[in-house]
Amino acid sequence: TNFESYQLSNEIKKALDVLKFNEPTKVQSEVIPQVLKGQDLIVKSQTGSGKTAAYAIPVCEKVVWEENKPQALVLTPTRELAVQVREDITNIGRFKRIKALALYGREPFTIQKDELKQKTHIVVGTPGRLIDHIEQGTLDLSDIKYLAIDEADEMLRMGFIDEVESIIKEVPGNRVTMLYSATLPKEIESLCHKYMKDPINIEI
Ligand code: AMP
Repeated sequence: TNFESYQLSNEIKKALDVLKFNEPTKVQSEVIPQVLKGQDLIVKSQTGSGKTAAYAIPVCEKVVWEENKPQALVLTPTRELAVQVREDITNIGRFKRIKALALYGREPFTIQKDELKQKTHIVVGTPGRLIDHIEQGTLDLSDIKYLAIDEADEMLRMGFIDEVESIIKEVPGNRVTMLYSATLPKEIESLCHKYMKDPINIEI
């Protein structure tokens, strides 16, 4: 199989060509059709498996350019991963002119606040700073339709799990939720149980 077998627009397929993503990785071939269908997913996979593009490709496909509020939210444990994911999304969404923003600590809040006033399709961020923006009313989550929680086990290890939960609670219920983790400790399983709709387990 290659990317031709998915329901992807020419803009996304062209970006994959430029990136030389000729064949989906294993996790991508499992995840992409499910996300396009609107299925909640728990994905057990390692870094290096192509997991970022596994959610970035279908989410970029589903983003509606004309809408002004953020439509997808990605949670990451670290600033480095947030920046990397923002970059991957920008590359995959370039021919759709998708605007992704990374929000993390140790960067002035006011700069991010101004950026959030511009059109933003996808927000990627670390839990603490996302909560600051939610509390200050600078991040509007009312149109979020896709929520991806990346490296969930790292969030747990770093003590962010309660913050992750409080962010999930702020996202409208009518959404697709995906969680990516190398391991699935019981705290993460119970989070999935609490906030996902009949999730499918994918193990790579
Ligand atoms: P990740 O697991 O998301 O950190 O991705 C690992 C690396 O694989 C990144 O450098 C991606 O750019 C690359 N990658 C992701 N998907 C593909 C693909 N389908 N074909 C070739 N490279 C890919």
